[in-house]
Amino acid sequence: MYNTTEENVNTETINFASLNLAPELLKALDESGYTIPTPIQAQAIPVVLQGGDLMAGAQTGTGKTAAFTLPLLQQLLPLASSSASPARHPVRALILTPTRELAIQVEESVKAYAKHTPLRSLVVFGGVDIRSQTPTLMKGVEILVATPGRLLDHVEQRTVQLGQVQMLVLDEADRMLDMGFMPDLKRILALLPKKRQNLMFSATFSNEIKKLSEEFLTNPTLIEVARSNATSENVTQKILLVGSADKQNALADLLRKQATQAIIFTKTKLSASRLARHLEREGIAAGAIHGDKSQLERIQALDAFKQNKITALVATDVAARGLDIDQLPMVINYELPSAAEDYVHRIGRTGRAGALGIAISLVAPEEEKFLKEIEKLIKREIPKEKADVPADTNSTVRTPRRQPSTTPSSSSSSRSTPRKKEDEWFFKPYEPSIDAPLPKSIAGRDNKPKKEIAALLGGLQRKQ
Ligand code: AMP
Repeated sequence: MYNTTEENVNTETINFASLNLAPELLKALDESGYTIPTPIQAQAIPVVLQGGDLMAGAQTGTGKTAAFTLPLLQQLLPLASSSASPARHPVRALILTPTRELAIQVEESVKAYAKHTPLRSLVVFGGVDIRSQTPTLMKGVEILVATPGRLLDHVEQRTVQLGQVQMLVLDEADRMLDMGFMPDLKRILALLPKKRQNLMFSATFSNEIKKLSEEFLTNPTLIEVARSNATSENVTQKILLVGSADKQNALADLLRKQATQAIIFTKTKLSASRLARHLEREGIAAGAIHGDKSQLERIQALDAFKQNKITALVATDVAARGLDIDQLPMVINYELPSAAEDYVHRIGRTGRAGALGIAISLVAPEEEKFLKEIEKLIKREIPKEKADVPADTNSTVRTPRRQPSTTPSSSSSSRSTPRKKEDEWFFKPYEPSIDAPLPKSIAGRDNKPKKEIAALLGGLQRKQ
């Protein structure tokens, strides 16, 4: 049984100050440039501040991170301590995420919103040496963001105590189930005090999610901000019809004409690597993120993209899920996904927080069956035209044109985290690397071998 919040909260008339947030948090929000809460924030913050459990249907891009982080910090503020003693900084809030990338992003937000408070946070995830995370953990942190596998490693090594956790957040719960984290979650839940506040965020609301929420939430309030199968009105969608043999050239031509940054989706890791190399040969600065890349490589590619040093970030669905890139103007589907829901997730990377976005899909005749499924799902026909295919330019090898790193980009200007310098790696063809050292702030190790994830199924339905 769920509680529901008032329908149609008019977010136009609400600002953060009216949500009774503490001055320290309002100051940090102000510095982030946010004054008006997004719908999920306007609805979730009061519920969490009252101490109740929450089940929220919200995807990345809705502002969900601040929706749980702000009230979480506020709940912990009375317990904040400026003492250096680790005993005064027990883990009081645990945020679990399915992927390392999401964990990093969430903790960056926690740090940004907590900057005027003495509350400490840390992110732990797999992928690098566990010992690099231990010293900070042992010094004490109130807010721990973790992937489940690595958290359990720390529990086993007795480098973390969870006996004082009073708030638990499960972020992207549906993905955690898809990725097979249920046994880990159960083990973690068994280690936490029974009396605590639980917040669960999920893009979809399948039967498994309902079951999980029944097991893990007490009398939760249900909040739903957008149906997962709806595409944003802010995103202009277009189909370019092109033979598969001509796709690479059509894409290079498109990127040159649009002269803007884009995330480009491929279906497989192999085609992501190949495509990034092809674009580099065409003189378009590109990087790739997918499951075979090391954590360091993925972070570097993402950072280079965020700093506008590369124009094209080629990604597989799994690698890109959960990525938060501000003001991304364009998403390109180099290959259509075979699951229509993935199309919705992909194009949801653009047109966020009221900005306008473009989503262009290169569709070969053999992919038209996928296109039909997508149009059925989103209940609209996407405008189609023939792609321009210039003559093959492959014979001329050009030097990639990188954006001058001194020019502040629109995408980097809104970020507070200092970014690393451009790396030689981007000039090399892709070769899998082993255990390269990570910057201290993001040290961790792989939780588990990740499998490719099936599409999220079904839309979010409000329980009657
Ligand atoms: P999330 O859904 O948490 O991944 O957030 C999506 C993006 O919205 C992030 O880039 C946030 O920094 C941004 N954001 C969060 N809250 C607000 C807000 N109130 N107004 C505008 N942008 C926001």
